[in-house]
Amino acid sequence: MEDSKTKNNENYLCPSYVAKPGAELFGIINSNGHVDYLNTTIAINEDFIARANKGRTPEKRFRFAGNCAKSGCKQWKNHECGLVHDIVEIIENPVSEALQHCPIRQRCRWYMQRAEQACAQCNEVVRNIETQLTQQQSIEETTT
Ligand code: SF4
Ligand code: SF4
Repeated sequence: MEDSKTKNNENYLCPSYVAKPGAELFGIINSNGHVDYLNTTIAINEDFIARANKGRTPEKRFRFAGNCAKSGCKQWKNHECGLVHDIVEIIENPVSEALQHCPIRQRCRWYMQRAEQACAQCNEVVRNIETQLTQQQSIEETTT
């Protein structure tokens, strides 16, 4: 039987990935700042990245997925992704009855760790949330 440690050692996708060749485009940030999820993922190439870089930062306009770097990522703590726990704690959206479609759900590390709670926050996430969280944590540390 699989335990959580075994699962965390498996290769899941990070849903907060950068725009680089081979990454999978799975969502587009709409005019409300929320994510519209694609039916299926699209592997991006150099051409896409060159075109996307002509506008605002691609990671602010699209959502990409790629292999979770695990211990190679600064968000990896105690054998799992710490970022999704912070996102659930800070955004605090309730879980909705109808889970939105997402083309990477079965491979998503955040879903593997926090299931519907992760998905309830996810459509408000743009990749620079890491920066926002880091800034918020710094403010909290200096005011406590
Ligand atoms: S630890 Fe979290 S933020 Fe880092 S690559 Fe994995 S899923 Fe992404
Ligand atoms: S957290 Fe949920 S909605 Fe977000 S990428 Fe993972 S499976 Fe998709």
